[in-house]
Amino acid sequence: MTVSSVEDLDRQYFFHPFTHARDHERSGPLTMVSGRGSTLVDAQGKEYLDAMAGLWCVNIGYGNEEMADALAAQTRQLAYYHTFASMGNEPVARLAHRLVTDAPGDMAKVFFGNSGSDANDTQVKLVWYYNNVLGRPEKKKIISRERGYHGVTVMSGSLCGLPGMHTGFDLPLPMVRFARAPHHRFEGLEGETEEQFVARLAQELDDLIVAEGPETVAAFIAEPLQAAGGVIVPPAGYFPAIQEVLRRHDVLLIADEVVCGFGRTGEWFGSTTFGVEPDLMTVAKGITSAYVPLSAVIVSSPVWDVIASGSEKFGLFSHGYTYSAHPLAATAAMTNLDIVERDGLMGQAKARGDHLAQRLHAAFDGHPLVAEVRGHGLVGAVEFAESLEPLRRFEPRAKVSGAIVKRARELGVITRALPNADTISFSPPFVVTEAELDQMVAGTRQALDDVCRELG
Ligand code: PLP
Repeated sequence: MTVSSVEDLDRQYFFHPFTHARDHERSGPLTMVSGRGSTLVDAQGKEYLDAMAGLWCVNIGYGNEEMADALAAQTRQLAYYHTFASMGNEPVARLAHRLVTDAPGDMAKVFFGNSGSDANDTQVKLVWYYNNVLGRPEKKKIISRERGYHGVTVMSGSLCGLPGMHTGFDLPLPMVRFARAPHHRFEGLEGETEEQFVARLAQELDDLIVAEGPETVAAFIAEPLQAAGGVIVPPAGYFPAIQEVLRRHDVLLIADEVVCGFGRTGEWFGSTTFGVEPDLMTVAKGITSAYVPLSAVIVSSPVWDVIASGSEKFGLFSHGYTYSAHPLAATAAMTNLDIVERDGLMGQAKARGDHLAQRLHAAFDGHPLVAEVRGHGLVGAVEFAESLEPLRRFEPRAKVSGAIVKRARELGVITRALPNADTISFSPPFVVTEAELDQMVAGTRQALDDVCRELG
């Protein structure tokens, strides 16, 4: 099949996620055909450095032979059997043990899904079930945060603090509330220190819970580092201060580790990095490096005790997917985690992250359109603003970052413009080399210069 006939099929029949439908019909797809390490190759043979590891997920890099062999072997042995009604399989039993052992705090059980979105949906159902078992049917509201990203199902889309995720979909659902994002640069008041900012955020959360009625608030969901909403790194002391409020009002904390989990922050979990002590954790993406879709909800012992006692009250726990605990996905996860551990990729992510941060600061600090260079571990971001003094964002948002990302792609570097902020992000595979990082940053800086010339 020729490249153009594949593109015709795509243009005509493929309903793309997160894509402008009419623009796509006009301009068609960019079709990727292969990948190795941090490099992707398109159907025309053009190479790109993938500074985003797909969507923050291909941590061990593309084209890993060990993974291909492990998946082939498991496919031959047992590609699938369901796990309803006490059915099990070996890879998933091993993986559940590994996740409970590795996770911070007193974790007890793991429930498996297929995506971060469905896992966050499961989280809300678990929290509701938990309160129903405890005889607290009123305690159902979920507090999320502005700029948070938690997925696209009816509930997880509701939990996103990004207005674009709600437009046209009749979301958010009525039981969701939002707290302020912990972004000192844009949300801090004139002269407010980070410490004062943290104290204010904790007070605002307390006020919100009291105004709603603590007996109606069930859980708070947060990414340790807000990724898709702008790469927002919480200020020191933020999570301990928030947790004190949550505990006082008996509100569960769900840590959404979909991006942070398994080394991206330079530690195994973002919760450990930022002092989060979750009652429930969501993981996906980096658990398999995206070789096979998999997500998991990790449940702490106190929450599990209540949920398990629910079987006496409600009978069967009637929740689960055809593909929950799929043996190929569990094999992908075990192989991926083995590779990350054996090859020291978490330490490498930290070292490469330091290099990335240093290069981003060198390339972008002081530019008249750059409001902030930030990041943590192997995640970096550059935020642009129309004016720095006073600080004023571009309207429409993402105008400049969108143009930079488009130009960078022509130059062979794939970055991402994040919604609702003029921010471009970097989240490359852990196997990225320093020379590749240098090329990614240089390509993006070149793109900024080209876009500035066009803007005049
Ligand atoms: N949670 C976070 C923090 C994410 O970044 C994402 C996806 O980017 C999700 C949840 C949703 O995951 P998925 O796209 O696998 O449904």
